[in-house]
Amino acid sequence: MEQSYESTRCSNLKSTASMAVLKGIADDGGLYVMRDLELKKINIENLINKSYLEMAEIILKEMLDDYTAEKIKECVLKAYTNKFSKEEITPIVKVGDSYITELFHGPTSAFKDVALSILPHLMTASYEMNDIKGEVIILTATSGDTGKAALEGFKNVTGTKIAVFYPDGGVSQVQKAQMATQEGSNTYVCAIKGNFDDAQSGVKKIFTDPKLIKELKENNKIFSSANSINVGRLVPQIVYYFYSYAKLVESGAVNLWDKVNFSVPTGNFGNILAGYYAKMLGLPIHKLICGSNENNVLFDFINTGIYDRNRAFHKTISPSMDILVSSNLERLLYYMSGKNNEEVKTMMEDLNSAGRYIVKQDLKKKIDAEFYAGCVFKEETEKTIKDTFDKYGYLLDTHTAVAYKTLEDYKAHTKDKTVSVVLSTASPFKFSKSVYEALYGEAGKGEFEIMMELSEKTGIRIPENLKNLNKKPVLHTTICEVNEMQDYVKAIAYNKK
Ligand SMILES: *Cc1c(COP(=O)(O)O)cnc(C)c1O
Repeated sequence: MEQSYESTRCSNLKSTASMAVLKGIADDGGLYVMRDLELKKINIENLINKSYLEMAEIILKEMLDDYTAEKIKECVLKAYTNKFSKEEITPIVKVGDSYITELFHGPTSAFKDVALSILPHLMTASYEMNDIKGEVIILTATSGDTGKAALEGFKNVTGTKIAVFYPDGGVSQVQKAQMATQEGSNTYVCAIKGNFDDAQSGVKKIFTDPKLIKELKENNKIFSSANSINVGRLVPQIVYYFYSYAKLVESGAVNLWDKVNFSVPTGNFGNILAGYYAKMLGLPIHKLICGSNENNVLFDFINTGIYDRNRAFHKTISPSMDILVSSNLERLLYYMSGKNNEEVKTMMEDLNSAGRYIVKQDLKKKIDAEFYAGCVFKEETEKTIKDTFDKYGYLLDTHTAVAYKTLEDYKAHTKDKTVSVVLSTASPFKFSKSVYEALYGEAGKGEFEIMMELSEKTGIRIPENLKNLNKKPVLHTTICEVNEMQDYVKAIAYNKK
C-alpha cells in the first residue's frame, strides 16, 4: 500500500495511514502528515443532504487511504451509532447572527468524543490490516477531559485495554466522578500522587522503557496512545466542518460555494487544524479564527510570528485550553513552509532547547492570510456567557464563550460580513461552577448541587451522562505513587488486575 504519510521532520520516514494511526508519533518525534493532501479533493456538491455518518465515510476514506471503504464504514457505524444523544451527531443552531455547531452531544459531553469514539476502531482495524496479532494497551495521562473521553471510546473494544492516570486532587469533582464510575471490562483508572506533569512523564517513561516494550512484545502486546497528535484523532474532526457547511447550504443560510468563517476555542491546535485540512480539501473557508484564554501563546504567535512558551502558566476557567505547547501547530508549519521538513525540524529543536522559535516572513504571511487570532480573559468570558444567555437564551460553556467573543471582536475589527460558525466544545454543565458564577455570582456549594441549580435556574436540561453521576457506583479507587505506575501497567498487561 502507498505510504502517503511522512514525518513532519523527515521526508524519509514514511508510513501508511493505518500504521500512522497505530503508532501515533513518528520515530523521530515528528507528527505524521499526508504529503499530497492538496491533491485530495472532497466534492461538496456530493455532500448536500447526506447524513453525518455518510459524510464521515467519504471524508475518512479520502484521508485514511489504505483502509477499504467497507472497513471505514464499519468503524463509522461502530463509533456513532447510539453513542451520541443527537442523531445529527453535531447539530448546528443559530444564535444572534452567527451559528454554533455543537460538538458536545457524545458520551462525555465534550468535543473530544467525536474523535475518540472512532479512534479505537481505526486502531483495531489497522491491526487486522497489518496482520499484527495481540493486544493494544492504551496509556493516557489526563488533566480531566481527555481521560474520560478515551475511556468511553475504548470501553469494551475487543483487543484493547486502556489505563488512565490523573493527578489525585488535580481534577474537578465531576471529572473525578466521571472516571471513578467508568464501566467496561477493559478500563483501568488510577490516581497519581503528584501533578499532571508527573502523571505525563510517568506515562512517557513507561512508553519508552526498552526492557518493558520488549517483554510485552514477546507476549504479543504493544503500547499505544490516544493523544491528540494521532492522525486518527485529527481526521475525524474534519467531518464536522463539512457537515456544518452542508447544513448552512441546505437551510439557505449560504449559497453553495459561498465562503464561511469558523471560530474555534483552541488549546493543542487540533480542532482548528482540522478546519485548515477541510479548507485544503476544498471547503470554502474564508478565515479560521483562533480563540485563546489567558494562556495566549497562540495569539502572540499568529500576531508576531514568534512562538514563545517561556511565560507564566495560568489556571483559567477554560482549563482544556490551558496549554503552552500546542503540539498540532507543527503540522501547520509543515504545510505552510511548503513541506520543508528541515525547516520544521529546526523550529522544533529551537522549541525544545530554548522554548521558542521564530518563523520566516513568508511563512508568517501565509498564516496571516488564513488565520485571525484573539484572546479573551476571565472577566470578558463571563460577560459573554451572561450577555448571550440574557439576549438569546443560549448557554455557552467557558471554552465556547472564548471563541464566541473572539468572533465578535473579529467582526468589530474587520467589518467582515461573512457567515460565521462557532464550534462549541463542551456542554455548559461540564463546567457548571464557572458558568453559574458568570450568570449569578458566587456559587458556594459542591459541584453537583451547582449543576442542579444551574439547570433549574436556566431551564436547560443536564445531559444524561452528567446527571446521575454522583449516584453511580464507584468502580475505580486505586491511588499510586509515580514510581508504582509501571507495576500497575504490568499487572494490567498480565491480567492481574
Ligand atoms: C480539548 C478541548 C479544547 C481544545 O481543543 P484543541 O484541539 O486542543 O485545540 C477546547 N475546548 C474543550 C472543551 C476541550 O476539551
